[in-house]
Amino acid sequence: MVEEQLIPRGIKDKSVLKAFLNIPREFFVPLGLRKFAYADRPLLIGYKQTISQPFMVALMVQLLQLKRGDKVLEIGTGSGYQAAILCYLGCEVFTIERIKELADTAEEKLEKLQFKVKIKVGDGTLGWEEFSPFDKIIVAAGAKIIPPPLLSQLREGGRLVIPVGNLYHQELIVVDKRGENEYIKNNAGGCIFVPLVGKYGYED
Ligand code: SAM
Repeated sequence: MVEEQLIPRGIKDKSVLKAFLNIPREFFVPLGLRKFAYADRPLLIGYKQTISQPFMVALMVQLLQLKRGDKVLEIGTGSGYQAAILCYLGCEVFTIERIKELADTAEEKLEKLQFKVKIKVGDGTLGWEEFSPFDKIIVAAGAKIIPPPLLSQLREGGRLVIPVGNLYHQELIVVDKRGENEYIKNNAGGCIFVPLVGKYGYED
C-alpha cells in the first residue's frame, strides 16, 4: 500500500508514511472484507458507509500538516481508521460520527489499540463547541457547503480540509484561517465521498 499507492502519488511526509506502515488497516475493516483491506479503494463498513481509500486518507492527513500535540476535530469517525492514524501522529483527537453503531465499534477498536480519542455521536456539521478552537479540522464526508460552525471553531492559523461539491463529485478544499474572518481556500483536487448529512449538510 505505502510503496505502490501512497509514495508514487505524492505522499512524501515521512511521519504520515510511518503511520500507514504501523496502523493495521485490516483491524478496522469488517471480517468478510479483510482480504481487501489494503486494496486501492474504499470498502463498505455497514450502514451504507465506507472506510475511505488509503490514498485519500493519506492525502487529507498530509494536507493537514500536523504537528505533535495538535488538537484535531474529525467529522465522520466511520471505522475509526483515520482517527487511529491521527492519534499515531501524536494529535489530541476529537471525532464525531452520526451513526451510533459505527461510533461504538470504532470506539471499541481504538480502545483495543490503546488510542485515547474523544468520540461523540451527533451532527458533526455543528462542530464540537465545547472543545474548540481546534488546530486542525478534517471532514471525511462530502459537504455541499463548508459548515459555518467548523470555520468559527478553527483556531486562527489553523487548517480545515473538507470535500465540497455535489452528491457525485467533490473538490478537496483546504482552508487556512488567517484572521477572525479571513480564510484562504485552495483546491487539492477531485474526490468522491459519502454525503455529509446534517444541519449544514444533506438531509437524511
Ligand atoms: N474516517 C472514516 C474512516 O477512517 O473509516 C471514514 C468516514 S466515512 C467515508 C464518512 C462517515 O461520515 C460515515 O461514517 C458517516 O456516517 C459520517 N457522517 C456523515 N455525516 C455526518 C455528520 N454530519 N456528522 C458526523 N458524521 C457524519
